[in-house]
Amino acid sequence: LEKKIMDAMEFIEENDVKFIRLQFCDLFGQNRNIAITPMQIQRALATGIPFDASLVVGFSESNHSDLVLCPDISTIQILPWRPQQGKVARIICDIRYPNGEIFEADSRLILKETLAHAAAEGFQFNTSAECEFYLFRQDENGDPTIMPTDQAGYFDLAPYDRGENTRREICLTLEDMGFEIESSRHEAGRGQHEIDFKHDDALSSADNIMTFKTVVKTIGQRNGVHASFLPKPLVDEPGSGMHIHVSLIKDGTDIFESRNNTLTEEAGYFIAGVLAHIKGITAFANPLVNSYKRLTGGKEAPRHITWGFGNHSSLIRIPPLIDNYFRFELRSPDPTCNPYLTFALILEAGLEGIEKKLPLMDESDLDEDEILKDSQKYKNIEELPITLIEAIDAMKSDALIKRVLGENLANNYIELKTLEWMDYIKTVHPWEIDRYLSTY
Ligand code: GLU
Ligand code: MG
Ligand code: MG
Repeated sequence: LEKKIMDAMEFIEENDVKFIRLQFCDLFGQNRNIAITPMQIQRALATGIPFDASLVVGFSESNHSDLVLCPDISTIQILPWRPQQGKVARIICDIRYPNGEIFEADSRLILKETLAHAAAEGFQFNTSAECEFYLFRQDENGDPTIMPTDQAGYFDLAPYDRGENTRREICLTLEDMGFEIESSRHEAGRGQHEIDFKHDDALSSADNIMTFKTVVKTIGQRNGVHASFLPKPLVDEPGSGMHIHVSLIKDGTDIFESRNNTLTEEAGYFIAGVLAHIKGITAFANPLVNSYKRLTGGKEAPRHITWGFGNHSSLIRIPPLIDNYFRFELRSPDPTCNPYLTFALILEAGLEGIEKKLPLMDESDLDEDEILKDSQKYKNIEELPITLIEAIDAMKSDALIKRVLGENLANNYIELKTLEWMDYIKTVHPWEIDRYLSTY
């Protein structure tokens, strides 16, 4: 502890830090923070900083409104967009009860527990994410619209691509914060973009996703545009996904090392485990009512429960090998998910697959259109849930999910998401007026 405090003080001194933001992720994957001044850092590291959790969604239901934020000092970073004199640093925190016990609804701790479980079985878990997002214009009040900032498409260049300056600034800011950016480009939708950064251990990778979203939104704002991770903002354009790449290492060997299109036995079991739980996991990987507009809306989003080598249409894809990064890619998640919980669930589902030696279904080389066109012929291929409430129902009967989250958190999630669904379902939407009003 002494050493941690000394290191933190030194960092603060050297970087002329005047404010420190203590950051954590709520149940629904949103960043939250409170700021302290450097004078409080010693107290923060020794006892944690208390906060009233009763107003934080997903935390208030725990009957304990007093919680403390315990900074994970290894995550300290300067926020490059804040003033360069009297800088602002952020630290990602774990959440505990005032008596030091862990707060069981803290998603970062849930992922840590899962990683410890994997480590006990000899596995190390690495992940990366391909985050897609739209850049929309703001109106005269600075509020977001759904007008894309350009009309460009996949891999387009300026002048069609009007997002290049914003994208450039996002990449440079992320690099200042220690990210290794692998590529960035215009995506297929008008005003849609993607920036990919290097894989890491699952905890750092989830932390990075949270940082990434903050940076994209902040830099967007500074450039006068609204950056949105909403899964399906425009009905006629592709949705924004967050494909997750997963690799698993045991005793220095890559479980997902595949040659000549054959998987190792354990890789097969792992994928079978993920596929066995994917319906319930969808409630977390695709947490919004809007998420299902992407999954059912075509345009390269997966809808059926399939896997394949190289197949860009399957739910799980084994990409061709590049850079000795052996992995599989899960294509259903979207960037509104809580990455800590989503990773924890994927890993636990896969480990269960290995433990139970679950058999893997046959590979599929079909694309979504073919399956949909001949639904009779392909009636044995299962679908992902097509609405939020179906995903919640699938989650209700998934014992693994309840075990990973704990009964309380799982029940809270079900309750809050069911309320969200009811709110949606009782609303009269413009579609209904368009479709029915003149006829009935
Ligand atoms: N935007 C597509 C999706 O909704 C993915 C496109 C891609 O393969 O990069 O998942
Ligand atoms: Mg993409
Ligand atoms: Mg991909």
